Amino acid sequence: MSMMQDYINEAEAALLHTYNRYQVVFDHGEDVYLYDIEGKKYLDFVSGIAVFALGYGVKEYNDAVKAQVDKLLHTSNYYYNVPAIEAAKAIKKASGMDRVFFTNSGAEAIEGAIKTARKYGFLKDGRTDHEIIAMEHSFHGRTMGALSVTGTKKYRDPFEPMIGNIRFAQLNDIESVKAQLTDKTIAILMETVQGEGGIRPATEEFLKEVRAICDERDILLILDEIQCGMGRSGKFFAWQRYGVKPDVMTVAKALGCGVPVGAFLMTEKVGQASLVAGDHGTTYGGNPLGGAAICEVFREFEEKKIPENAAKVGAYLWDKLEEVKKDHADIKDHRGVGLMQGLEFDHPVADIINKALEKGLVLINAGTDIIRFLPPLVISEAHVDDMLSILKECL
Ligand SMILES: *Cc1c(COP(=O)(O)O)cnc(C)c1O
Repeated sequence: MSMMQDYINEAEAALLHTYNRYQVVFDHGEDVYLYDIEGKKYLDFVSGIAVFALGYGVKEYNDAVKAQVDKLLHTSNYYYNVPAIEAAKAIKKASGMDRVFFTNSGAEAIEGAIKTARKYGFLKDGRTDHEIIAMEHSFHGRTMGALSVTGTKKYRDPFEPMIGNIRFAQLNDIESVKAQLTDKTIAILMETVQGEGGIRPATEEFLKEVRAICDERDILLILDEIQCGMGRSGKFFAWQRYGVKPDVMTVAKALGCGVPVGAFLMTEKVGQASLVAGDHGTTYGGNPLGGAAICEVFREFEEKKIPENAAKVGAYLWDKLEEVKKDHADIKDHRGVGLMQGLEFDHPVADIINKALEKGLVLINAGTDIIRFLPPLVISEAHVDDMLSILKECL
């Protein structure tokens, strides 16, 4: 048996079976390519699910992280540290938000956003029965609060009861949102572009109408930018495409480009009327290592004009996938923005993805029938062409 198969067997004997994994053990990465432990090279169109925006083996990033390892890895949020301060300034500048709380993951950022909304409501009217409206087909993470606002019933059912007072509406259907509004509603939460749920962008019209409802009722618009943020949409944050600013925003995935960090951010108004000392915390969140990684990510984004590249190469990918769609009657739909696109088929896509893997191309599904394209944001048109020639062989 191959060395790779041995490791896969050992993994299946030791790890909890919470993932149906593709049959490959990756060893290292270089630029936009991954290599498995037997030396085979793969073009990466997943980037660890929208994490490795900068690609692999970027010297300046690696050096910045290594230097921080040698200097100081961790203190505590009871003390200040320079990398976290610089990271907070950088994310404020890119987003125009005012206050940031660093977390270790996306789900943890969503938990913070939910607590922010509940506290905001509590301070406003003293009630403890506030409701949050989330969207069907959304994905916000696997912890209990994040799961409670995730719009896929089969993910929630085995783990009931959820945190409660969550209602679901349909993305891009403003009447469905209005139907769920009550005098207890304190926030409306959505991904600006749904990721796991099948690459569905919120429309500008819908976002603007939701923003107006939030303004009118003094309730919070929470945008989850964990997958679609950090340049992937062609803007730093996807809501900047529409000029609809959230009250609270969550970020993770590409924020650390490999170092596990996340954040939730808010406007000054919400910051002054929600969480205070003693309300929320984390041991590792905002540590110097995460801070150093975030700072270097923002520096490289600026130097390499990452959002601009995502917009440019994303437009090229869009045109090419439109051609593919024309040639294949089993492709039902093509959706997305920037370098976050999906092809929906009228059948499961697992076979196509496995074939692509054999031919040295890493793709991933969203649901059973959608192929998701989430390449590193540094790719060029030539990489798109390489991807397409393999994809076409697999269709
Ligand atoms: C991945 C993801 C999350 C959860 O992030 P984790 O870091 O896995 O906890 C939340 N929201 C969206 C939109 C995501 O794509």
